[in-house]
Amino acid sequence: MHRERLLSRKVNVEQLTDIRGVTAKELFEKISQTGADLRLARRIQSAVFRSGVFPSELPEVSSRLLLKIKEITRIASLECIEKAVSPIDGFTRYLFRSEGEGLFESVRIPLVHRPGDEKYIICISSQIGCSVGCAFCATGSMGFIRDLSAGEIVAQVEAVKRDSEYPVGGVVFMGMGEPFLNYENVMKSAQIISSPTGMAVAAKTITVSTSGVVPQIRQFTDEGRPYKLVISLSSADSAQREILIPTEKKWPLSELAESVKYYHDKTGERVTLAWTMISGVNCSENDAVGLSELFSGIPVKLDLIDVNDPSGKMVPPSDEERNLFLDYLRLHLKMPVARRYSGGKDIEAACGMLAGRASQNTKPTEKNSNA
Ligand code: SF4
Repeated sequence: MHRERLLSRKVNVEQLTDIRGVTAKELFEKISQTGADLRLARRIQSAVFRSGVFPSELPEVSSRLLLKIKEITRIASLECIEKAVSPIDGFTRYLFRSEGEGLFESVRIPLVHRPGDEKYIICISSQIGCSVGCAFCATGSMGFIRDLSAGEIVAQVEAVKRDSEYPVGGVVFMGMGEPFLNYENVMKSAQIISSPTGMAVAAKTITVSTSGVVPQIRQFTDEGRPYKLVISLSSADSAQREILIPTEKKWPLSELAESVKYYHDKTGERVTLAWTMISGVNCSENDAVGLSELFSGIPVKLDLIDVNDPSGKMVPPSDEERNLFLDYLRLHLKMPVARRYSGGKDIEAACGMLAGRASQNTKPTEKNSNA
């Protein structure tokens, strides 16, 4: 009997609205029965993001009304159970536990080279595990565990921000998971993160990265989402890309390039293509030529990043191999190319290294194996 009461209480708690997981408009819809208006919903959400707790008082709002709203809402818990700071480059990895199954990680990237303009970029997770299974990614080797809710995604930014001395200069969806296979929750969280009553991070500094889920690239475009788009490409050869990034099987390079063109035509923005450099695999002149042919007439940007494979099977190019590849790209591609630093290797926080540490004990599921 006691257990049944506890269970029914748990169900009821879960039915309450998580203030960090809804937009202010959605919060208003949930609490309007109390007589609250949209402005009050905004003030409450803003207060929760400022302090981390439900406000005990607000000017010109009765404590009775606040109590009524508190009774039908909640702030879901997020606990940081491990924090590792790199003594080499200051990258910081956070391991989180929420109320749901499994653990997930975020990384704080310091941009502190300009005195007076120091800030952090926060790299967040959208899923626990991932069904895509990219060859160079520790998350992919876990299989898919579950989607994170919008509240769990937003709470990562809030927790890292609360732990930081400098402001948040941007948020990147490049942690665990394929954001476009958890599209609704990712878009809602980005909306809350960028909202003035949410985390107030400028929408233009939010980046969503995908392995190439074409239908959602088109949906993202059609919906006019104001965030930057990065597509993990890493090869312009379909057979090779299928091994590196298995989304290729479902949405081949030709369709992917079409969707990039569609995005550019509709938004005027360039998509950034991410290229994980693997020595002897995708850093040759042929790779540069293939890339330039595939995106001929489609303005893109290219970000180069060294592979991080803890098993040592895949290694980054030597300086000479990398410089030669850069020469070939300059010669054939004629698009902006940047080299992106992947820090935090010593604390397993670099790109491709996140694996939700203790989630090894959680069994993968078949769900979400869209890729
Ligand atoms: S790189 Fe991204 S899409 Fe690929 S397996 Fe890792 S988390 Fe999934």
